[in-house]
Amino acid sequence: MPKVLTKSSRKSKSSSSAKTVKRVYFFGNGKAEGGAHMKDLLGGKGANLADMTLVPLPVPPGFTITTETCGQYNDLGQKLPKGLMDEVKTHLARLEKAAGKKFGDPGNPLLVSVRSGGKVSMPGMMDTVLNIGMNDPVVDGLVKLTNNERFAYDSYRRLINMFGDTVMGVDHQHFETELSAVKNSRGVKLDTDLDTAGLKEVVERYKRVYRQHVGEDFPQEPLVQLEHAIEAVFKSWMGDRAIKYRELNDIRGLRGTAVNVQSMVFGNMGDDSATGVAFTRNPSTGENHFYGEFLVNAQGEDVVAGIRTPLDCQSEMGKWSKKSWQELLRIKNTLEHRYRDVQDFEFTIEKGKLYMLQTRTGKRTAAAAVRIAVDMAKEKLIDEKTAVLRVDPASLDQLLHPGFDPKANKNVLARGLPASPGAAVGKIAFTAEEAEKRVAAGEKIILVRRETEPADIGGMHVAEGILTSTGGMTSHAAVVARGMGTPCVAGTCALLIDHVNRQMRIGDATFGPDHVISIDGGTGEVMDGSVPTVEATLSGPFGIIMKWADKYRTLKIRTNGDTPTDARVAREFGAEGIGLCRTEHMFFNPERIHHMREMILASSVEARKIALAKLLPYQREDFIGIFKEMKGLPVTIRLLDPPLHEFLPHNEKDQRELANSLNMTLDQVKSRVAQLHEANPMLGHRGDRLAVTFPEILEMQVRAIIEAACQSKKAGIKVLPEIMIPLAGTKKELEYLKKFTEETAACVFKEQGVKVEYMYGTMIEVPRAALVADAIAEVTEFFSFGTNDLTQMTFGYSRDDANTFLPDYIKKELLDHDPFQTLDTVGVGQLMEMAVRKGRSVRPNLKCGICGEHGGDPKSIHFCHKIGLNYVSCSPYRVPIARLAAAHAAILNATKAGKNGRK
Ligand code: PEP
Ligand code: MG
Repeated sequence: MPKVLTKSSRKSKSSSSAKTVKRVYFFGNGKAEGGAHMKDLLGGKGANLADMTLVPLPVPPGFTITTETCGQYNDLGQKLPKGLMDEVKTHLARLEKAAGKKFGDPGNPLLVSVRSGGKVSMPGMMDTVLNIGMNDPVVDGLVKLTNNERFAYDSYRRLINMFGDTVMGVDHQHFETELSAVKNSRGVKLDTDLDTAGLKEVVERYKRVYRQHVGEDFPQEPLVQLEHAIEAVFKSWMGDRAIKYRELNDIRGLRGTAVNVQSMVFGNMGDDSATGVAFTRNPSTGENHFYGEFLVNAQGEDVVAGIRTPLDCQSEMGKWSKKSWQELLRIKNTLEHRYRDVQDFEFTIEKGKLYMLQTRTGKRTAAAAVRIAVDMAKEKLIDEKTAVLRVDPASLDQLLHPGFDPKANKNVLARGLPASPGAAVGKIAFTAEEAEKRVAAGEKIILVRRETEPADIGGMHVAEGILTSTGGMTSHAAVVARGMGTPCVAGTCALLIDHVNRQMRIGDATFGPDHVISIDGGTGEVMDGSVPTVEATLSGPFGIIMKWADKYRTLKIRTNGDTPTDARVAREFGAEGIGLCRTEHMFFNPERIHHMREMILASSVEARKIALAKLLPYQREDFIGIFKEMKGLPVTIRLLDPPLHEFLPHNEKDQRELANSLNMTLDQVKSRVAQLHEANPMLGHRGDRLAVTFPEILEMQVRAIIEAACQSKKAGIKVLPEIMIPLAGTKKELEYLKKFTEETAACVFKEQGVKVEYMYGTMIEVPRAALVADAIAEVTEFFSFGTNDLTQMTFGYSRDDANTFLPDYIKKELLDHDPFQTLDTVGVGQLMEMAVRKGRSVRPNLKCGICGEHGGDPKSIHFCHKIGLNYVSCSPYRVPIARLAAAHAAILNATKAGKNGRK
C-alpha cells in the first residue's frame, strides 16, 4: 500500500522545516542579507532593496519575507506558517534598532509599510498597506513629535482606509463617500486643502465605516495590524486580478509574492516633502532623458492611482527643490551603471531628504526597447549581443502594425498624454465588462475610462486602445497599456465621461457607444471617426537591431505567402524565401472557383482535364509573379491540400446557380456534394491522397510551376522552385507521385527548350511520416514540418474545434500552453527531432524547415534552432519577430554550449 502522509506527519514535517529554513532577510544602514541575484526568493522588489542598500543608496531599513513563505502559506490552505511571526518579531527588533524608533511607542513611533513584490513585477495587481503601527496614542505622539498635526491625522486616515479596503475587504467607495462629504461640508476641492480639523473628522468617520462593515473596531494593536497586513499581501497572490494578470502575461511556475516590511518615510510631511515615480529613460519612446512625476505633500499611492495629476520632474522639480532634482539626476546615472538597463523607481522626499523605495527594470514599449537597446550598446553600457537579447521578439508585433497616415485629414477632438504609442480605431465602451462583451461579439473597441483600475484588466486586454480623462504617464492605464503594447492616451482633461448614461463629452459634442473614434498613443491625439493608417517600415534603431540579429542567427527565415504581394511585403521585412505557398488559396477567387468546381464535378478524367486546363494559366501567372518578387530565392509550392468538398457550395441557391452554369441538374450537384461529404474531413480525402486518386490535378499544378519557372528563366529571372507534397505518410506514396512529377517536368522542359533546377520534397505532418523519415528521405530532398497538422494528429485534438476544451486544460495547468500556438517540444518536438535525425542519416544534406504556425512563435523557434532545422517559415508580418527570435536562440545556445564546455 502506498504510504499516505497523515495530517500529523505532514504537520511535523512543516514545523521541522520551519526551524531550518530562513524566511526573513534584513536590509538597512548599508548592510543586507539579500542581494540582486535573489529575485526568486526575495522577489524583484526585495532583492533590489537589498542591493540598493549595498550600493549604498539611501534606502529606509526593512526586511523581506520570502516568496517561498507565500508558497507555504498557500500550501497550508492560506494559513501563516508556524513560527513566522516569531521570526518577524526578531527582525522587527533589528529594524527598530536600525531606525532608532519603536513599533507602537507613542514617544518615538516606528511606522512601517507592507508591500508585495513577486519575482516578476505585476504592477497594481497585489496589495500594499502603508503607515502600519499607527493607533490613537501613536497619532497623538506623532503630533507632539513632528509638531505637525495635519500630517499625523492624514497618515492615520490613510491607514484606516488602506487597511479596511485591502486587508478587510471594505469597499473603497465607502471611505471615498465620507471623504467627499467632509470636503463638501468644508467647501474644499482637494484632499490637501483639508485642514487638521477636517482630517480628524475624516478619521472618526473612517473608524465608523470600518466598524460598520467589519463588525469590530479598527485594531489598535500594531502587531495585529502587521500580521493581518502580511497575510493580506500573501492572499493577494491568489486574488482574481493577480491570477488573471499572470494568465494574460504567461507568468507561470512561481511560488508566490515576497512581503517587504520597511520603515516608513513620509512624503506628506508638508511642502518640503514629496513622493514620485520615475524612469531613467522615456519608457514610451526610449529617449534618454529623465522621465518622472512627483506630487508635493503626498504619499505614493496618490501618484499611481491618478487621483491628483502629478508634476513633471524634468520641468518642475528644479523649481521646487534644486537639491532634490540634482540628486535624482545623480541617482539616474548610478542606477543605469549598476543595472545596465532602464530602471523604474519610486522615491520619497521627507523634509528635503531623498529616499529610494524601489527600483526595478522598467517596462517599456517595443519602440522604446529597441531604441534603448541600440543607444545603450552605443554608450557601451551593454554589448551588441545583450542589446539583441534586450528586445522581446514577440513585442515587435507592436512596431509591425500600421500607424496613422500622416497625410490623412484628421479632426482632432482633444489631446491627452501620449502614454503608449500606436494607432487604434474603434467604437466607445465605457466599462471593461462592456468592452469584453462587445469585442467577443466582433466589435473593435476603444475603452474610455476616467482612470482604469486593476479590475479592468480583461477589458484593457481586448480593447484596441485605451483613453482616460485623468491620470498621468505613470497612472495605472499608462503602465498597464505599455506593458500590453496597447495604444493609450491618458489624462485627456477635455474629456467628460458619464459612464452611467454611456456618453462622453468633449466641448459641446456628445459621443455615444456607437461612435467611432481614433486615438494616437504616440501623439496623444483623440480624433473623430476612423483615420486611415499606413504600413510600418524597418527604419532607424529597428533596422539596426535587425541587422545585429542577422549577424548572430544561423536559422534562415522564410515566409508563408500565396501572392506576389505577400512575397513583396515579406521580402521588405527580410524574408529569405517562401517556405509555404498554399496553392488552394489561389482557387478561391470568384473567377477561378467556377473552373475548380467544374473540375470537381467532372464525370470523367477527360472532362476533369479540360477544367484543369482552364485553371492552369491562372496558376502559372501567380507563380511567375511570386518568382519575380523572390528574385532567385527558394520558393516552396505545396500542391493542393484541402478536401474537395470545401470548394463546393452548400446552400441550395448557390448549388442551383452552379448547376445552371454547368448545364447540370440540381440533383446531380447535390449528389456530388453528398458523395464528397466526409465524417472526418481533416483525416480524409485531402493532401496527397487527392493526387493519388486524381494524378491529373498534380500534373496540372506541376506543369504550371515548371512552365512559370522556365518562362521566368527565359526572362532573365533566377528561380528556385521546391515542389512540396502535403500529408504524405509512406515512402510509396511519395515514390508514386514523384514519377508523375518528374515526367511532367521533363515534358515541360522539352516543350520550353530550357531546364530549371527544382527540388521534390514533402511536408511532415502525419506522425507516421516522422517515424519512417529515413525511408521517406530516400525519395525526397527536403522536409517541411507542418506542425499544425502534426500537432493535431499527435495529440488527437481537432485544430478546428479544440478551443472548446483547450482553455480548460490551460486554466487547470494540465497543459502549459496551447500546443497549436507554441510547439509541444516534448511530444510533437520529439517526432520532429527524430525525423530530422533519421532523414539526415540517409541524406546528410536534407533541407529541413517548418511551415506550421509555430514557425513564427519565438519559443518554438528556439526549439527549431536546437534540433538543427535550416529555416523557419511564418506569415510576412512575423518575419522580423522570427529573425530576432532566431538570433536569441543562437546567442543563448552558444552561451549554454560554452558553459557546458561544448563547442
Ligand atoms: C500545417 O499543417 O502545419 C500546415 C502548414 O499546413 P496547413 O495549415 O495548410 O494544413
Ligand atoms: Mg497541414
